[in-house]
Amino acid sequence: MTSSLLFELTDEQRALRDTVREFAEGEIAPHAAAWDEAHEFPTAVIRQLGELGVMGVAFPEEYGGLGAGAVAMAVVVEELARIDSSIAVTVGADVSIAGEPVLRFGTEEQKQRWLVPLARGETLGAFASTEPGAGSDVRGAQTTAHRQNGSWVINGTKAFITNAGNELSSFVIVTAKTDAGGDARPLSTFIVPSGTPGYEPQKPYKKMGWRASDTRELVFSQCAVGEDAILGQLGKGARVFLTVLDGGRVGIAAISVGLAQGALEQATAYAKERLAFGAPIAKQQAIYSKLADLKTSIAAARLLTYQAAALKEAGKPFTEEAAAAKLFASEVAVRAAEENMQIHGGFGFIEESAVPRFYRDAKVLTIGEGTSEILKYVIARQMGLVD
Ligand SMILES: Cc1cc2nc3c(=O)[nH]c(=O)nc-3n(C[C@H](O)[C@H](O)[C@H](O)COP(=O)(O)OP(=O)(O)OC[C@H]3O[C@@H](n4cnc5c(N)ncnc54)[C@H](O)[C@@H]3O)c2cc1C
Repeated sequence: MTSSLLFELTDEQRALRDTVREFAEGEIAPHAAAWDEAHEFPTAVIRQLGELGVMGVAFPEEYGGLGAGAVAMAVVVEELARIDSSIAVTVGADVSIAGEPVLRFGTEEQKQRWLVPLARGETLGAFASTEPGAGSDVRGAQTTAHRQNGSWVINGTKAFITNAGNELSSFVIVTAKTDAGGDARPLSTFIVPSGTPGYEPQKPYKKMGWRASDTRELVFSQCAVGEDAILGQLGKGARVFLTVLDGGRVGIAAISVGLAQGALEQATAYAKERLAFGAPIAKQQAIYSKLADLKTSIAAARLLTYQAAALKEAGKPFTEEAAAAKLFASEVAVRAAEENMQIHGGFGFIEESAVPRFYRDAKVLTIGEGTSEILKYVIARQMGLVD
């Protein structure tokens, strides 16, 4: 039996990385600041990414994808975030929290209807769990679905939902409490098509970061969907939800690695050219130590992320690894963005460079898809420390 701890990308993964890097540098970088400033969702570039095959990287070829796997997908998301986190989260959420659950739990009909166009990059999907009154505390959610005249009628409000209100949005997977007889009100998941009467995406939020991504509150008011809208088994939505979280965390970890890498590259380039006291600041121990620390932390974050993605790809359990990768990588990203600004001095504070955008984009990484506090609880539970 042979075993290896060497983690090298395959030729196929490297080729994909180079293609996405070239696209991100050529087609995204020149416009990222303008989209950010205008809080503009860049529909055209998302369509172009779809045409490149980016949304289908991890999905099987029979469902419109490239069948390249979860590690390749992490590499793609990382490359996008190295330039623009808004684009990276648009792609990452579409694939990992909307497409993945349809692949994993959907009927053949649901896969053909929702997954195939998503994997081909023609449409975007969303997943809505968070509510104004309940994010980390999923059990505190208030949205309900009850049976009425052969339909399921959904009522409630979802908060901070990515990808649900732009012109490419085709469906949202909604978690809701359903009647299961008696007092039990277990969670179920429903696929709600955009445009369904009673489903109203609200105006986009004005966000501190990820400004070119589409984030909204969604209101469901007597929104009726058919039996065929149930994703997975009725009353087993918690399973769908937990699976979504694990995959989504690998996605956020990949965004974190990419953002941190981009910030490190900006800081390194500036430190080499900025002169102070007669020499480039990169020659000062206080500065090169920061850069060396970041390089090391990013390498560790990348390994944790690829490991979680590789376990997912192999069909093995990866709950703890996904939580650890997201916890560590997101905190590295916040530190990298902050040190990038520190190294840029006063110029870092001015919106003419990408430095403040990276700083603003970093913080949400320790919040979305499980806060750092909740991730420590997830890891402690895997360690058998808490129930
Ligand atoms: C830009 C953006 C995009 C998002 N996209 C989506 C999406 O597409 N779909 C979706 O469903 N959600 C989405 N979210 C929501 C996100 O996942 C939640 O914001 C996150 O899970 C935290 O929930 P909350 O905001 O309700 O905070 P809370 O759960 O209210 O937490 C507030 C604070 O209390 C702490 N806390 C709570 N419980 C505990 C505990 N038991 N122990 C220790 N500390 C605790 C938290 O760590 C945090 O610091 C998005 C959020 C943002 C900002």
